[in-house]
Amino acid sequence: MDDGWISGMMDRSDSAGSCQGRCFELEVADPPGCRCDNLCKTYYSCCSDFDEHCLKTGGCVSPDRCGEDRNPDHACHCSEDCLDRGDCCSNYKSLCKGDTPWIQGDCEEIQRTVVLCSVPSFVRPPLIMVSVDGFRASYLKKGKAVIPNIHKLRTCGTSAPYMRPVYPTKTFPNLYTLATGLYPESHGIVGNTMHDPVFNATFSLRTREKLNHRWWGGQPIWITAEKQGVKAGTFFWPWYLDVLRFPSALRPYVYAVHSEQPDTFGHRLGPLSSELDNPLREIDNIIGHLMNGLKQQNLHRCVNVLIVGDHGMEEAHCDRTEFLSSYPLNIDEIQLIPGSLGRIRPRDPKSTTYDPKVVVANLTCKMPTQHFKPYLKQHLPKRLHYANNRRIEDVHLLMERKWHVARKMPEKLRTRCGFFGDHGFDNKITSMRTIFLGHGPSFKFRTMVPEFENIELYNVMCGETQSLNDVLRDPPFLPSMPQEVTAPLPDPDITVTSDLGAAATMRVSVGSAHTHTHTHTHIHTHGDGLPVPEHAGGEAGGGGGGVRRRGGRRPRFHQYGLLLQTDFISGYSRDLHMPLWTSYTLQRQVETGTPTCVHPTRKRVSPAHSQSCSGYSQNRQLDYGFLPAGPRTDPGPQEASLITNTVPMYPAFKREFSENNGVNVLSGPVFDLDHDGCETPLAGDAPPVPTHFFTVVSSCRDRNQTVEDCDGAPTVFSFLLPHRADNSEACNSGEDESLWVEDLLKLHTARVRDVEILTGLDLFRSTNLTYTTALGLKTYLHTFEGDD
Ligand SMILES: [Zn+2]
Repeated sequence: MDDGWISGMMDRSDSAGSCQGRCFELEVADPPGCRCDNLCKTYYSCCSDFDEHCLKTGGCVSPDRCGEDRNPDHACHCSEDCLDRGDCCSNYKSLCKGDTPWIQGDCEEIQRTVVLCSVPSFVRPPLIMVSVDGFRASYLKKGKAVIPNIHKLRTCGTSAPYMRPVYPTKTFPNLYTLATGLYPESHGIVGNTMHDPVFNATFSLRTREKLNHRWWGGQPIWITAEKQGVKAGTFFWPWYLDVLRFPSALRPYVYAVHSEQPDTFGHRLGPLSSELDNPLREIDNIIGHLMNGLKQQNLHRCVNVLIVGDHGMEEAHCDRTEFLSSYPLNIDEIQLIPGSLGRIRPRDPKSTTYDPKVVVANLTCKMPTQHFKPYLKQHLPKRLHYANNRRIEDVHLLMERKWHVARKMPEKLRTRCGFFGDHGFDNKITSMRTIFLGHGPSFKFRTMVPEFENIELYNVMCGETQSLNDVLRDPPFLPSMPQEVTAPLPDPDITVTSDLGAAATMRVSVGSAHTHTHTHTHIHTHGDGLPVPEHAGGEAGGGGGGVRRRGGRRPRFHQYGLLLQTDFISGYSRDLHMPLWTSYTLQRQVETGTPTCVHPTRKRVSPAHSQSCSGYSQNRQLDYGFLPAGPRTDPGPQEASLITNTVPMYPAFKREFSENNGVNVLSGPVFDLDHDGCETPLAGDAPPVPTHFFTVVSSCRDRNQTVEDCDGAPTVFSFLLPHRADNSEACNSGEDESLWVEDLLKLHTARVRDVEILTGLDLFRSTNLTYTTALGLKTYLHTFEGDD
């Protein structure tokens, strides 16, 4: 349960030798000697007395120690000579010299042109990245009273209301996503525990196997930094900041430090416990020490400080556990990685009787209240990006929030439960959200940016901000829209269906697919310019990829023509013999003013052939909605409430349509047959069966404007719906659709970027949006979740 990071990684068995007189030495000692440099913890090679010798605070705990004789056993000092030697404890000046602590100063806009740094030769501002384990976004609401330093960094610098972790919301997958900008299925750290069938080995926090390089894919930030000629280092508490004063050739520019708190206490106490305020105060205090330490060296304006969490924390308890032994399943045949998500593989890897499909069937809708959904990994919601890796088991249990899964009931009844909190759940759940805040010369002053997903952060650290361009004040990389690769061509084989009267009413300029039906979803297909963050050395072209392509594969080029109908337009593929997309506008739902349904006269349609108004009044889940006879029609209330003009409509759907001033809908098939998250190249004559269907719904953010005339930014949400032979994913799918369809839609919500990667389409090419805004829309996920 615990994601011990530093402590879990410490291994003292082969650390003979001493750090006496060697603390933070610049030269790295070669094996078999143990190390005392500032990266030894990262490589698990510190001498056994490293903590004792090099991390000992001693120092300025009370004013009576100010000016004491230098004690060589201490890592920081309060002796008079400490300022010259740059090894004062971080509170030395405020405690001994009457300086104002950092926290008491006002927010200060840092002028880049007047950089007042005592160390003159900063080619670029150093970056200190503090990762705080299990820092749930809602903890920020504790504000000044509990976390004054974090609060100040947040108000004075750049922050987001929250940052979304990747799935599974565990420490190792997320820290390595922060370091690589890739999804776990791409970087390979798919869990804190994992089994690789090819290595025939198991990775866990407790064994040394995790140190084996073969598990770690992608290119972590510290390697990227070194390739850019930038040294990377690690800090420990107490802050030993004089490394910032090293000669520039030896001085790292990127520093990482990880705190296991508040995660450990979050597990123990639960995220809502008020006792959690104490560990939060401690973390905040340590961050205060960092800022004070920087200030007393006059470096607080020179250094970028980034504080990020890896995931949030949800309530959990032993009493809320599902046991697989209560299901019709031979549990002796399976191996389960249990907890806040379940992963199942055969106990015997060579088993001939194990069938993942049967396991899923035996776990599907077997209990009246079942707190997980079993999936073959390729059927998991696409937004989770959790399929394309052999370390991800075929069978996956997506747990309901607050619930755990275990193999079987413990033999002895538990007398006490050791935890009240956990994480690992679906990353769209609000409690899994964590924090992002940046402060320093590269970050904007007093700025709040919209929420984002942590795969985007790598680009900020590399200085290649794309969808997050609003974070940095002088972004060094300005993305530009990729070139359109395949424009729709007038195709001699496809004749415009003018018999439907379309060509006359549609202002289509072939070549740009710019019609009034999709003002904001300018569509084109393209085969390049997709982010290929295999090694993000600057080649990435769009925001928020996070997907690594295999072997330089590119999406196929689609030859397509536009087919025009009266009320919609589609892009028809000659190769696939089907439309790749269709786009249309739905007008604002007319509010009837009275909720009564109106029966038309018998002359129009006989009652035997029409719905009844009483049918609507009996079903409280459903409402009636006006089916637009045509986009250009503007019906009166009377006309809109005629039963012959209405269709059953879910209230949420109708709300979206009536609150918005019309919506654009774009939908089409998705072919990801090998579930690698990218479009599968298709061959053969038989029409391929889509694996999913996408729908992108956009409307004008300014509700006074119709979607067609919108000249500002749109709002958008999208879905990637699995195309399966049955609806067993929803256990109540036998019941009325109104009882389950909406939940299923919300589960399969997706980013526009996910749709783009799966289809090769490129949306939001409208010129009235900045590209940064467009990238923000592409990477936005509508979670259908409340705040907490
Ligand atoms: Zn944890």
